[in-house]
Amino acid sequence: MASHLESKGYEVRISNVATRMLSSEKFDPERFVKSVDAEVFGIDLHWMPHVQGALELAAMVKRHHPDRPVVLGGFSASYYHEKLVSDYPQVDMVLRGDSTEVPIERLMEKLSAGKSLTDTPNLTYRDGARTRINPLTHVPDTLDDVAIDYGLVIRKVLKYRDLEGHLPYKNWKSNPMSIAVSVRGCTHNCVNCAGSCDSFARNFGRNKPAFRSPTMLADDIARAEEYVKGATFVVGDVRQAGRTYADKFLKELKNRRIRNEVVLELFTPADKDFADEVATSLDRFSIQISPETHDEAVRKAQGKPYTNAALEKTADAFLDRGCGRFDMFYMIGLPLQTPESVDGTVIYAKKLYERFKGKRLFPFISPLAPFLDPGGNAFEKSEELGFRLFASSLDDHIRLATMPSWKYVLNYETQWMTRGQIVDASYSSGLGLNAIKRDMGLVDKSVADRTEERILAAQDLSRRIDAIVGRGKASGSDMEQLRDSAKALSESTVCEKEELDWSEDSIYASIPRMISSLVRRR
Ligand code: SF4
Repeated sequence: MASHLESKGYEVRISNVATRMLSSEKFDPERFVKSVDAEVFGIDLHWMPHVQGALELAAMVKRHHPDRPVVLGGFSASYYHEKLVSDYPQVDMVLRGDSTEVPIERLMEKLSAGKSLTDTPNLTYRDGARTRINPLTHVPDTLDDVAIDYGLVIRKVLKYRDLEGHLPYKNWKSNPMSIAVSVRGCTHNCVNCAGSCDSFARNFGRNKPAFRSPTMLADDIARAEEYVKGATFVVGDVRQAGRTYADKFLKELKNRRIRNEVVLELFTPADKDFADEVATSLDRFSIQISPETHDEAVRKAQGKPYTNAALEKTADAFLDRGCGRFDMFYMIGLPLQTPESVDGTVIYAKKLYERFKGKRLFPFISPLAPFLDPGGNAFEKSEELGFRLFASSLDDHIRLATMPSWKYVLNYETQWMTRGQIVDASYSSGLGLNAIKRDMGLVDKSVADRTEERILAAQDLSRRIDAIVGRGKASGSDMEQLRDSAKALSESTVCEKEELDWSEDSIYASIPRMISSLVRRR
């Protein structure tokens, strides 16, 4: 959006207020917001974990700049657009859908000229006491018109002398990564994903995915490496548009002699020919795939009907062809999944470590937290699919976001696992994986011991919070005493400082997946 508006002559400043808050306790968001002189303030509300922060920020803007419009955008803002504009006075407008580059340009034109907003596409806005909802008509069927200026951020950092505010995540400086987006929309239908094909059709007016052409996607990757010396993550499985598309893309990459590591995402297992093509097109590449569980029945219920045998063959094919790392992501909180099934996933992870010993295959396991995406099938058809929701409205989610521990923040549990069981299984699987890595010599014993200590401390903290909540007190001095312990643990439960490196078996392997979530899905 910033690249598009700048290409039309508007001055845009990006500021990641959350990163700045995390980077320095001295950063005062209120003072910062007061100091920004903008005609229009845009705030991202893509996923619900940001809801409380996004609305607080909007309220700050209104306190200091009451006459300036506040526009929200993103998937969650699109989902709750009407409520946001009618019930939250700090929000003037929401731009809906997955492609708001052109709608925001139209909006800026109208606002600058003082004209009526009635024909601004995808816009929901307040008009006196009324909430007006313009049709969601801007849903482009290709991504080729999206301008991406990879140099923009560098110029803005220099202009505003604000590096932290332009970083996509807190540790970007030590683990820099760029992205190239192949698609908006998805051909798959994973039950808990609001980036699924059903959800795109239901909520964002998109009935088929929009792809970036293979040539432009390869160009994006080549331009990204001019600015960022780190891995480039390609959002979306490039085989979704068909093998001809994927083949062309890889040929284009080969022609450009890419030096950065390229991280490719697979939504389903891939054959040996594809692994060969990737290996002959790129000097350095890694693969990420999310089988979610070792249990094929659970995986099928989740919307991914493929076998472990196919998955292992895929890992073999890529690792034999020089894959830098093959990351597999497992999840807790799935349909049909029980605590025993999660234990089974940890046992399966051990088998994987043994089978691929000496090769760079890394399984990760984490809970589906904190929120089931509003808009996804599991949220929309919760009862039918075996999910029980603790929140459905914006207010419900804001209330949950301020609860004292992540167990109480979860907005769901399943017919097969309660919130408590999801929390317990998350800690026990973390301990299990850590012990496997220590016993097999995959991590240094002292590092594994410290990780274990931190997981046990987090588990203990969670139990102490449970006890306080059980006594009917979700605030007060008992809870205050736990605040410091919680703060110390919050950043270090899962990894050591030494592990904070993309090239190691670390939490930073999750960055591409996290970025993918921010761009497109959960
Ligand atoms: S999890 Fe990935 S593959 Fe599944 S529906 Fe969402 S975006 Fe598509």
